[in-house]
Amino acid sequence: MPSPDSLRAAIRDVVDFPTPGIVFKDITPILGDAALFRDAITLLAESAAGQKIDKVVGIDARGFIFAAAVADRIGAGFVPVRKKGKLPWKTKQVAYSLEYGESVVELHEDAVLPGETVLLVDDLLATGGTAGAALKLLDQLGAKVVGVAFLIELGFLNGRSQLGSHKIESILIFD
Ligand code: AMP
Repeated sequence: MPSPDSLRAAIRDVVDFPTPGIVFKDITPILGDAALFRDAITLLAESAAGQKIDKVVGIDARGFIFAAAVADRIGAGFVPVRKKGKLPWKTKQVAYSLEYGESVVELHEDAVLPGETVLLVDDLLATGGTAGAALKLLDQLGAKVVGVAFLIELGFLNGRSQLGSHKIESILIFD
């Protein structure tokens, strides 16, 4: 199994992006390196080992990159959770709080069938608002979420507390 250490070393901290006070975890150096990108997908896919996954659900937008590759790796379908107004078919919607104000995420109402098994994937867990909203959408569709996987978790923000009793796996935790 690949070591997460080289992934950690490749992440670039960008101070005050997109707003003052935020340290943005730039994962593009991982994406641009064939071996690191493959290792990241291997480690994320491992979080679903031994389980039958029907759909890997990715969150707009960096989550798509990882979730789609994991879906291909484990032989599952891919489903996008998108920001409001992007999906063309009938959707379910959930609003959630951001640092300032509110945002809405959507899922096609037929994207996951009741009882289908799902692995939810995103690049980063911060406050947990985004992943929590995605889990609410999946719950509305009757999905059986068997795991939630992040490449990065900002442990000091305690986003896990927003994600109920789901099995959460983060490859890299920053404290
Ligand atoms: P949250 O809803 O607070 O858990 O934020 C998670 C979403 O915002 C993820 O989809 C991330 O892509 C993005 N995000 C939040 N904080 C950061 C950060 N410090 N660096 C990079 N992405 C972030």
